[in-house]
Amino acid sequence: MANFEKKELIKKSDNLSGWYQNVVIKAELADYTPVKGCMVIRPYGYSIWENIQVELDKMIKALGVKNAYFPIFIPETLLKKEKEHVKGFSPELAVVTIGGGEELKEKLIVRPTSETIMYAMYAKWLQSYRDLPILINQWNNIVRWEKRTYLFLRTTEFLWQEGHTVHETHEEAMKMVRDALNNYLKIYRDYLAIYGYPGIKSGAEKFAGAESSYTYEILMPDSKTLQGGTSHDLGQKFAKVFNIKYISQDKKSYMPYQTSWGFSTRSIGALIMVHGDNNGLILPPKISPIQIIIIPVFNKNINKDKLITKAEETKEKLKDFRVEIDLRQEETFGWKLNDWEMRGVPLRLELGGKEIKDKKYSLVRRDNFEKVKIGENKLLLTVKKILDEIQQGLLNKSKKFTLDNTREVKNYKEFKKIMKIHRGFIKAYWCENPKCEEKIKEETKATTRCLSLEDMDKKEKGKCIYCQKEAKRKWLFGQAY
Ligand SMILES: [Zn+2]
Repeated sequence: MANFEKKELIKKSDNLSGWYQNVVIKAELADYTPVKGCMVIRPYGYSIWENIQVELDKMIKALGVKNAYFPIFIPETLLKKEKEHVKGFSPELAVVTIGGGEELKEKLIVRPTSETIMYAMYAKWLQSYRDLPILINQWNNIVRWEKRTYLFLRTTEFLWQEGHTVHETHEEAMKMVRDALNNYLKIYRDYLAIYGYPGIKSGAEKFAGAESSYTYEILMPDSKTLQGGTSHDLGQKFAKVFNIKYISQDKKSYMPYQTSWGFSTRSIGALIMVHGDNNGLILPPKISPIQIIIIPVFNKNINKDKLITKAEETKEKLKDFRVEIDLRQEETFGWKLNDWEMRGVPLRLELGGKEIKDKKYSLVRRDNFEKVKIGENKLLLTVKKILDEIQQGLLNKSKKFTLDNTREVKNYKEFKKIMKIHRGFIKAYWCENPKCEEKIKEETKATTRCLSLEDMDKKEKGKCIYCQKEAKRKWLFGQAY
């Protein structure tokens, strides 16, 4: 491992993007590769993804959805079937033209998402109403060509899950769309400790080929917004072009309703950005690969073996948690503290001669550096309490930041001023005409991020901040990542 001093880490408060790239590499979450646009997710980063996966997978299965796997290649003709869909994805497709040394008769697209390849199979599998609902999810990788790489946040290949369901009624499909979105909200709030707004996308911002798209929108520390996960009502659009039909009880043929929804490794980018500080990462305990790091304080006056035995006993006591012991002896104690702070481990347990003599442990929190000394008999309870407090504290902080940076404006002048000075989320009346949305984007870089679920059913009346025409709802605007 490369030796590094704390001072080498770029300060988050000085240069967010420099800090971000610096900390991702130094904490060994991910790295650049010889393939432009692609990244390696290293074990420490991958383990965060696994912790997210375990929880999200449980939630997905609780909806009755089962996992499966479909091919990475999609024949070009299949992808081209749904016009809006292919138009939306065309600029970012990777295409295979040669296979086994021969020019292919039909080009193969490396999946940018799997609607088309899955629905070609659904059309074959679906015969009768008894086959419904079809509830399938896959955990896989997808490819969307990117010109610039931003580890986790913008890479050509990334990992995600994509759920694809088929239902008899639109009502049933909409329930799935909302349940899937609600799962994403739970993952963000309860596990990643990231506050955000669940809402519906505008026509211009929705998924290519969807009737409507739902999203969880997050505010990043530079006051730009990130789409955290999306869930789509596909209506019967894909059913029509893929000829997906079933015979109902009345012996007549019907077209079903479909949904698709996805959550990706981009979320790890949000996690790093939202919580970290000048000293490095701060990981919420629930998804942190290591929740407690035990650091034995080696020195001349202490029996090394005795200290290691004690550290191992302590680890055993804490076996309900993800615990590791730092046994490196070639590094100084101070160096190790910096290293674990940089890696964002929520709780540090220091163990030295004094602790052993007093039968006490020193615990130091990563989020606020608070140090407590506790008796051995109180270890388990205290650790649990502190980890819960860190988890909740991070969410509270993220919520406060989001709410403090959500500003309601009455006119376009105010809107422009806020976009220049603060950015963040701006809440404003919009007439829902795409032309106003486009003009606002051109002039301020802000796009509609969503109409929050909370504001969807409110009966309001106002004037569109751009054209002054009547508007019924206040939308959230922001500059997207
Ligand atoms: Zn307007």
